Amino acid sequence: MISVGEAHELIQAALPAPAVESMAFTEVAGQVLAQDIVAPHPQPRFTNSAMDGFAVRAVDVQGASSEGPVALTCVDVVAAGVEAKVTIGPGECAQIMTGAPLPAGADAVVMVEQTSGYDQASVEVYHASQAGDNLRRAGEEVKTGQVLITAGVRIGPGELGIIASCGLEQVQVYRGPTVALYGTGDELREPGEDLLPGQIYNSNIPVLTRMVQLAGGEVALSRVIGDSKDALRTFLAEAIETCQMVVSTGGVSMGRFDFVRDVMLELGVEERFWKVAQKPGKPLFFGQSGSVMVFGLPGNPVSALIIFMEYIWPTLEQFQGLRPTGKLTAILAEPFPVDGGKHRFLFGQVWLEEGCLRAAPTRKLGSHMLTSALGANAILDAPPGTGPLRAEDPVSVRLLPWGAIHARRATP
Ligand code: AMP
Ligand code: MG
Repeated sequence: MISVGEAHELIQAALPAPAVESMAFTEVAGQVLAQDIVAPHPQPRFTNSAMDGFAVRAVDVQGASSEGPVALTCVDVVAAGVEAKVTIGPGECAQIMTGAPLPAGADAVVMVEQTSGYDQASVEVYHASQAGDNLRRAGEEVKTGQVLITAGVRIGPGELGIIASCGLEQVQVYRGPTVALYGTGDELREPGEDLLPGQIYNSNIPVLTRMVQLAGGEVALSRVIGDSKDALRTFLAEAIETCQMVVSTGGVSMGRFDFVRDVMLELGVEERFWKVAQKPGKPLFFGQSGSVMVFGLPGNPVSALIIFMEYIWPTLEQFQGLRPTGKLTAILAEPFPVDGGKHRFLFGQVWLEEGCLRAAPTRKLGSHMLTSALGANAILDAPPGTGPLRAEDPVSVRLLPWGAIHARRATP
């Protein structure tokens, strides 16, 4: 049996280099950038007006005030999207819209609210201006050639907008892996089917399907298989052939019908480890078939989900060129059970209390009790050997990517 740290190192060593592909701009939201985004032009691209108003020479309106407005002759109207045709001379101005290029000769914009009496030919300005007022200067935000986004960032709304503003049609992104998922167990049925005595519904595969999608992978193959070596062999052979990652649940422990590991070894999967000193999830299997990463997760629903978050989620992140999401430290509001020589993981809640991150584990400790995931926004963990942690002790916390932190504890 190896430690959690050793298990992470063995998985780390098996990670292939992320694969890059070119993707249409319209598809890239949520993908991870495999290239730097470099500004092809300055931002703003040209000096333009920050306001609807009048482009002026600041010297002409230096003495303007509400008591003594200055009258200017209007020589042009400049809309956003076109270049001004005229040069503003002494005593002249041009009506200008937000985003429109500043006409030559002008060096400031007076906002329309600080003028009156506009009649196409002239306008009265009653506010003194400085050169540069109400202008967005070319290059004030971004210079040509500046690196705006570096490779390895997931494309959120801001990144998407920047990519669009650079006019890019194709973007290099890291491709998430194709994943084969299979649940094993003669007892498993699907929603919609009737349950005979002793049978239960399969919940692991829907859960893990969603998890793979959330993490940016693609579930390319998924099936529920009985505890039959032949059926396991057929599925696993196809999975290894067609996918970059294989994840099973169930059938990997010491039971008489736990054939998952046997079949993996039979099909040439090279075992990297089987059994980790952790609770839940002790019988975790990890191996490789060429570059295909093969995980055998235990079947208990809490074990499967917690083990996925601890090992497979960060692997999926790295598969896409992301740095794996780290853990935080929170202060326990209640004791946290650690027993014997095993690393302990539990669903729990994390909340903010007087600026401090607080945490409490779920009160349902069984690895078969999936209701412990309800309302959880974190997985808490503690290494072996420490004995039970007490209230006010620090505890390691992995925030669940679909949870949110609130300013108070939800009802426990
Ligand atoms: P196993 O790891 O196969 O010994 O299964 C451990 C426990 O998890 C048993 O109670 C199984 O019935 C249950 N289990 C296994 N696979 C699933 C699944 N896909 N959905 C829900 N429960 C499962
Ligand atoms: Mg089973």
